[in-house]
Amino acid sequence: MNESRLLSVKMRASARGEHVSGAERIVPAAAAPRVAAALVARALSHSKGEPDFVNLKLEDPGEIMRLEALRVSTCVTATAEEGRRAAADILRGAGVGRVDEIMALFSETHSMRGAMLLDADTLERLEPDRERGVRATRMDAAPCAVGASSAASAAKKNHFAEAVVLATKVANAPGIVGEICVSDDPDYVTGYVATREIGYRRITTIKEMGDPRGGRIFLYRGPRSGVAETIRFLERQSVVVDGVPGSPPPAAPALDAASALADELAAIDAAGLRRACRVLHSPAGPVAAVGEGEEMREVVVMSSNDYLDLANDSRVKSAAAAALERWGAGSGGSRLTTGTQDPHRELERRIAAFKGEEAAVLYATGYMANVGVLTALAGKGGVILSDELNHASIIDGARLSGAAVVVYRHADMDDLAAKLSSCGGFARRLVVSDGVFSMDGDILDLPRFVSVCRAHGALSVVDEAHATGVVGATGRGLRELFGCDAPDVTVGTLSKALGAEGGFAATSRLVADYLVNKSRPFIFSTAPMAASAAAALAALDVLEAEPWRVARLRGNMEFFVGECAKAGVDVRDGGSAIAPVVVGDEARAARISEALLAKGFLVPAIRYPSVAKGAARLRVALMCSHTREQLSAAAKAIGEGIAFF
Ligand SMILES: *Cc1c(COP(=O)(O)O)cnc(C)c1O
Repeated sequence: MNESRLLSVKMRASARGEHVSGAERIVPAAAAPRVAAALVARALSHSKGEPDFVNLKLEDPGEIMRLEALRVSTCVTATAEEGRRAAADILRGAGVGRVDEIMALFSETHSMRGAMLLDADTLERLEPDRERGVRATRMDAAPCAVGASSAASAAKKNHFAEAVVLATKVANAPGIVGEICVSDDPDYVTGYVATREIGYRRITTIKEMGDPRGGRIFLYRGPRSGVAETIRFLERQSVVVDGVPGSPPPAAPALDAASALADELAAIDAAGLRRACRVLHSPAGPVAAVGEGEEMREVVVMSSNDYLDLANDSRVKSAAAAALERWGAGSGGSRLTTGTQDPHRELERRIAAFKGEEAAVLYATGYMANVGVLTALAGKGGVILSDELNHASIIDGARLSGAAVVVYRHADMDDLAAKLSSCGGFARRLVVSDGVFSMDGDILDLPRFVSVCRAHGALSVVDEAHATGVVGATGRGLRELFGCDAPDVTVGTLSKALGAEGGFAATSRLVADYLVNKSRPFIFSTAPMAASAAAALAALDVLEAEPWRVARLRGNMEFFVGECAKAGVDVRDGGSAIAPVVVGDEARAARISEALLAKGFLVPAIRYPSVAKGAARLRVALMCSHTREQLSAAAKAIGEGIAFF
């Protein structure tokens, strides 16, 4: 036998007239029997079930054309709808019009054995046999034609590589301007669009799981007289494709970074998770102007962290203005170099006194305070135990620290104790928790937390970002509420109830000195401006002089929860100024939030990744200055939104 002679081996298997499996190889004649046997074995063990008919064809492949594989890229889509849109966009980009009509034809292709051959402009069907369609056959990837290991590769099905081979042949057929394929396997949701210029663009989700509808459409552009030659090429011309990749590339190929970013954003959008900044045309407060131009209108803000309405308080503002005059705008340096001015030092003393601690360390933001404290107090060889619902700045600080991170179940002190027991091998153990959880509004059981940490010799850190000015009779936080010992470090922010900006760690003198020497966000970032510190100082003055603000905020929450109950809304009051109305579905939460805005209430939908997937919610945050009328009307509007959507 002539060793260099090649044979085309084609296998098609069916059960009760339905196509089950098919494959083909172009192989050296000597390997043909083994390859044929392997293909038959593959047909007999197909996941769609045992075929009752296997057709095996060995043919002289004739003259073989070699083609370079199409360039492959991946378009990540989250839903079938999004995938169909992406496919339509790609075709449009390739100069094909009437794309929506073409996509609609997929309802007909799944009953066909071959592909639909369509005039790309008139959408006229060009294949002579509409039941059968056109079959692209006689093709293989290059290694099979030259190598001898084809029996092994014949037994394994690589859907992806086989699809690239087919798409490459089709894209190179005369008159073909593009192909679109949707898998007809109910267990696959992917598809692709291919043209010679764009290459093979894989679309990760283009149909719903379980949907058996799929098929191929070849788009032809040219004279009718050329159709016969195109069909001959597709069905008779033997093609060997060089350079077929074995697996799809990752979603974000470096060469195409911008389009990968666009794809990812499109997927975020499709999942109802796209975010953008909303501009308020007014100072912080219970009422704000939103919308642009003629659309601009006032809404009740039900989502501000300015709980005590101090951000726009005249005393706070004049203190900041006076400090701006006295100390200038920027601080001019980091805290350890030239950035510490009198107001910074005074504010640190004041925070320490307010929290009943020996010392406090001021940071530019609460986020930086968490990162600074966790990276300084824990590191390689240590372990951080963290509540699963902790704020992102805690998660980031823990990751940056280099310590091992152990997440314990939300507010579950037994789980924490058990996990601490198994962390005995770590040189340093640190436990960190939100004081008020920022998405649920519930309060940490501080006495148990501190005692569990002590019992296991672990440092305790509590983040009181949402507790300061809110929890405890005079807003001093969890320690005031529970009348218990403080954790080793209390982190907080000046940007929420205190209406200014900046973050802090209140702790012992020793730990404060340690932070000043070891905490990188403190050392390597410019000190906040003195005016910010002056604003926070003035806010602390107001808070101490007017504890009624804290009491009124609490009263507002109790009133609001009562109004919600009347409106049939299930809202949780965990003892803070935050009340979640859990809706579940992301898109539904977004729609309710939009409807509320139209009615004059700014209640944001909080979605993944701020909360778990499927736990989207309306997050209500109250202020001491909300009126009872505003609260009643908001509760009613939320009730209507939930009932309607
Ligand atoms: C807001 C918040 C922070 C960050 O404080 P900023 O001053 O805004 O950076 C940290 N922790 C928790 C729990 C928060 O809610």
